[in-house]
Amino acid sequence: MASSFRRALRKSYVFGRKTNEWPLEIWKRSRTTNIAKVAELFPQRLVLPDHGYTPTLSPSQVTSLLTINETALQNNLVGTQRQSHAIKGYESNQLGSNFPCEDRRSQTQLLETGGAMFAVFDGHGGIACAQTVSERLFDYIAVSLLPHNKLEQYSHAMKTDSPMELLGPHHNISDYTSDGMSLLYRSSLQRFVVETLSTSDLDDVEPDEILAEALKMAFKRMDNDMSVECLPVNGALNLDTLDVGLSGSCACVAHIEHLDIHIANIGDTRAVIGQISDNGEWTAKPMSTDHNTSNEDEVERVRGEHPVSESPFIFKMGRLLGQLIPTRAFGDFRYKWPLRDLKNVVNLWDTAYAHSIIPMNYYTPPYLSNIPEVTKHTLTKNDRFLVIASDGLWDMLDNQQVVQLVGEYIEGKQTKETYILPDRPVKLGNLNRHLQKRAAGLAHKTPDTNAGTHLIRNALGDDHPKVSEMLTLPPEVVRFYRDDITVTVIFFDQNYIRNHTK
Ligand code: MG
Repeated sequence: MASSFRRALRKSYVFGRKTNEWPLEIWKRSRTTNIAKVAELFPQRLVLPDHGYTPTLSPSQVTSLLTINETALQNNLVGTQRQSHAIKGYESNQLGSNFPCEDRRSQTQLLETGGAMFAVFDGHGGIACAQTVSERLFDYIAVSLLPHNKLEQYSHAMKTDSPMELLGPHHNISDYTSDGMSLLYRSSLQRFVVETLSTSDLDDVEPDEILAEALKMAFKRMDNDMSVECLPVNGALNLDTLDVGLSGSCACVAHIEHLDIHIANIGDTRAVIGQISDNGEWTAKPMSTDHNTSNEDEVERVRGEHPVSESPFIFKMGRLLGQLIPTRAFGDFRYKWPLRDLKNVVNLWDTAYAHSIIPMNYYTPPYLSNIPEVTKHTLTKNDRFLVIASDGLWDMLDNQQVVQLVGEYIEGKQTKETYILPDRPVKLGNLNRHLQKRAAGLAHKTPDTNAGTHLIRNALGDDHPKVSEMLTLPPEVVRFYRDDITVTVIFFDQNYIRNHTK
């Protein structure tokens, strides 16, 4: 577990936010002083004074805990009448470590184009920013993609009692809606629509680049609107929006239309495509890079945006301004605002720790970027699935392991299903190969019926006792062993790809 401790220390985003104690000490103390509490919280655990905690969850109890947040949809993505994308279905799951869990996820369909969107948000410093962005970002993307005439219609409809719907329903099973803020959010979106109508920023963009530029525009505008919403108005602070603006969120959005996949990523959420070679080997195709202090290119980018005299102070203890691991994120305006705005908030905020929001050596903001990296891939016959996940998964498994696990999950699952002949002529030799592959898949049969669950189970450990222990760690220490994990696996429709490629 030593490496887990170090990893947990590195991943605790805001240094000193919870504690700067060495986690082992907390772990030991919790074992000696909180046994009664832990016994109450985890009656299923057997407490052995000399040997610590012994995992006592049965395999079915583990599965019950792991499957609580499962969600999936096969075919007919969100009730659309026509298929405008190569998606067969998706499976998703989430396992919290923080309480409440700071990750969010959502998925929807663009009613105008039929394209689908999936997103994973990884919040830090609280849930407020991730929650807000998960509720609103899809609207900003939809508006950015609307052609001028549709945007005019939408603008008009926003002023009526029968607004025009741009998105299918969000499937977001564990989230709530910020009812109290909905009017404010709506007026920000309306302002964005009106300004987009008058500026037409995307008019000069090459057709091939429109989607990437629209995603970038939506990310930046969403972040700027949150910034405006939490700045003081007439000398008064809105503590609800300030809560959003002082927390932050990484985000990975996948837009899939026809055979084209665009990934817009900000921070260290990640997207990977699983491909199978002609000889049956699984390989990972990365679709994003991590924007954090472990990425040398990002560190150099940030350093290059500030005077050389600041170089010794911009990164300290492996963190941006000594505090933050991501180098790009939504929110976190105390690493973006001009110093005078931060001081204004500090002066108006009636709380003892207000002054602590200004980082040391804060001279030439912004230090944190809100510009996503956008990548594009056109699907081929070798592409089978896309995984998007928060860093809680990537802390435990690398790209290749994730793709291998999902690949084996697919092979194992196939053996449980009735074999259906392909909808095209097939040679006996090929049929034989299919059947041999199914027989080989028997080795990968798993109790999991959701690819997200399968990945989370394997991220926690490679055998039952480890998984059981990771699920029953006391709340005081669990964050030092594992982060919130959110994973969505999108499966591609092989028939659609075959019918739409030469
Ligand atoms: Mg995380």
